[in-house]
Amino acid sequence: GDFSCNDVSGLNDADKATRESLKYVDKTPDPAKPCDGCALYTQPTGGAQCGGCTVVKGPIHPKGYCTAWAPKPA
Ligand code: SF4
Repeated sequence: GDFSCNDVSGLNDADKATRESLKYVDKTPDPAKPCDGCALYTQPTGGAQCGGCTVVKGPIHPKGYCTAWAPKPA
């Protein structure tokens, strides 16, 4: 979708640093590895467009990506 999940204003410095070091982006460079296909993704709640992640704090785009991407258990 055409929306962004980049508002990190609610994050502390450590969480911002993690987000940066894992190179989170809203648009995955590999269509086979989107956040919503990652074991660490958490679905949006309450009608929100952005979900979450257990390691990258802050809003997470379902079609985003970071270097901690991990396959869901089969
Ligand atoms: Fe997305 Fe990375 Fe979190 Fe996986 S670990 S859901 S790829 S931000």
